Amino acid sequence: MSTKTVAYDVIIAGAGPTGLMLAGELAMAGVRCRVVERREDRTRESRALGLHGRTMEVLNMRGLAEEVLARANPIPQVRVSLGHSLFDMSRLATDYGQLTIIPQGETEEILEKRATDLGVAVDRGVALTGCRQNGPVVHCTLEQNGKVWEESASWLVGCDGSRSRVREAMGAEFTGATYPYTIIVADVRLGTPLDDQLLIRVGRAGLVVATDFGNGWYRMGVIDRDKPWSDEPVTLDEVERTLAKLFGRNMRPSEPLWTSRFHIQERQASFYRQGRMLIAGDAAHVHSPLGGQGLNLGIQDAMNLGWKLGAVVGGRASDDLLDTFELERRRVSQGVIKVTDIATRMMTSDRLPARIARRTVMSVASRIPATHRTAVGHLSGIATRYPTMASAVGASPLTGTRVPDLRVAGHGAPVRIHEALRHGGFVLIDREDGAPLLPAVAEGDGRLVRIGGRIVADSGPWNKPEVVLIRPDGYCAWAGPRARARQELALACRRWVQS
Ligand SMILES: Cc1cc2nc3c(=O)[nH]c(=O)nc-3n(C[C@H](O)[C@H](O)[C@H](O)COP(=O)(O)OP(=O)(O)OC[C@H]3O[C@@H](n4cnc5c(N)ncnc54)[C@H](O)[C@@H]3O)c2cc1C
Repeated sequence: MSTKTVAYDVIIAGAGPTGLMLAGELAMAGVRCRVVERREDRTRESRALGLHGRTMEVLNMRGLAEEVLARANPIPQVRVSLGHSLFDMSRLATDYGQLTIIPQGETEEILEKRATDLGVAVDRGVALTGCRQNGPVVHCTLEQNGKVWEESASWLVGCDGSRSRVREAMGAEFTGATYPYTIIVADVRLGTPLDDQLLIRVGRAGLVVATDFGNGWYRMGVIDRDKPWSDEPVTLDEVERTLAKLFGRNMRPSEPLWTSRFHIQERQASFYRQGRMLIAGDAAHVHSPLGGQGLNLGIQDAMNLGWKLGAVVGGRASDDLLDTFELERRRVSQGVIKVTDIATRMMTSDRLPARIARRTVMSVASRIPATHRTAVGHLSGIATRYPTMASAVGASPLTGTRVPDLRVAGHGAPVRIHEALRHGGFVLIDREDGAPLLPAVAEGDGRLVRIGGRIVADSGPWNKPEVVLIRPDGYCAWAGPRARARQELALACRRWVQS
C-alpha cells in the first residue's frame, strides 16, 4: 500500500446530501476539505424528494433556495384520506410554507456545484475502506479500481450512509430495529389522475403515499398488507395490482422511471463523535420514510456541524464545541424516530385499536388549530429548538429557537436576516446604533456581521429584544435588552463564537 499524505483539514466520506452540504459549509469557513465518494456517478434515483420549510430556509441562508425552486414542484398541502384530514403548510410563518418536491439527484447536483465552486475536491469512485486515529491525525485507507493508498487529515467525518464505515471504526453501535414490512417505491405516470398533489391513503389493503413531481410523474410509496415482506424486484404489474387494491380503481401506472423495494429501519448511533472522527446524516440515524425527514435531517446536521468544525479547525473554538453537535442534533433525530415510528405503526396496522387511533388522531391533529400548528411546525422543522443553548447565560425564551427571515430597517433598505447570514458567520442585530457591544476581536474577524436597526413588521416575539445574536446556522444564540447585552453577550460569545 502506498502512502500519500495530503494536507487536508477534513476528509468527508460520502457525497450524499449530508456530505456535500457539509463540504460547502466547511469551505465557507476556510477549511481545506476533500470528499471521497464510493460511487462513480451521482445518484439518478429520485429517492428523497421533499424539502421541508426549514431546509428551504437553510438553503436560502446559503443562496441556494432559488435554484431549488426553479427545478421543483412546491406542494402546500398534504391530504390524508382518514377523516378527510388536511395538513396545510401554507399557514406556517415562513416564506416556504410547502413541501418542495425535487428529486434527490438534483438536490445533490446543486449542493455539489456549490461545494466545488468553493474549491472542494469531490473524488468519485474512491471508497474509504478503513480509518484509524493517531494523535492529532486520522489515517484513512482509500481504494479506487483495486489501488489502495493511505491519506491523512486532521478530522474525518462519515457522511457515508446507513452502513457507515466511519461509524463502525468509531465503535458506535447502531441500535434499533427493522420493521416487519418492505415498502415499494415507483416513479410512474398515472392514467387515472389524482385530485391531490400529495395524498396519504390508508385502508385495509395497506398504505400509499402519492406525490406529484409536477412534470407528469408521480412517486408512489406503497406498503401492501397482503405482501408485507419481499425481496423480489418490483414489476409494473405488481405496482398496478397493488395500487388498484388501495385506490379501488385501476390507476393505470406506466413508464416507470425508477422502482425499488426497501426495508424500513429505525436506528440511531450510540454516539456521534470519537476524538477526531464524527458521523452525520444517515450514518448517525435512520427512520421510517413516512414524513420524508431523512434528507432534511442530514442537511440540518451538516448546517449544525459545519460552522462548529470550521471554528475548531480555524482555532477560534476548542473542540468542546463539537460536543454540542451531538447534544443538539441527536435530540432532533430521536424525536423524528419516535414520531415516525408511532405514525408508521398506526398507519400500517390493521388491528381495530390502530384503525380507531389513526382516524381520531388524524382528525384531531388536522382540525384543532393548536395541534395542527404543532404537527406542521415539527414536520417542517420550523419548530426545532436547541434546548442545550437555553443554559447559555441569561437565556431568553428565544435562545435556541430558529430565527425567521426577519426584516431589519436601519438607515438604508430593510435587510433580510437570512440573506445577511449568507457570509456563513454570526449576525448581531442591534436596535441602537450605539457603541459596539461585542469584544472587538469578535466583530473584527469578519465572521460577525452587525446590523443596526429595528426589526420591522409583525415579527411576534422578535419585536421585543433590543439585541439578538444569531448563529451561522440561523438559531438564536442570545436575545435581550441592551442594558444586559454588554456583559451577557460577551459570555454567550465565549460559548459560541470563541470558546
Ligand atoms: C431507496 C431509497 C429511497 C428513499 N426514499 C426516501 C424518501 O422518499 N424520503 C426521504 O426523506 N428519504 C428517503 N430515503 C432516505 C434518504 O435518501 C436519506 O435519508 C438521505 O440520502 C441521507 O443522506 P446522507 O448523505 O446522509 O446519506 P446517503 O444519501 O446514503 O449518502 C451516503 C453516500 O456515501 C457513499 N459511501 C458509502 N460508503 C462509502 C465509503 N466507504 N466510502 C466512500 N463513500 C461511501 C454512498 O455511495 C453515498 O453516496 C430513501 C433512501 C433509499 C435508499
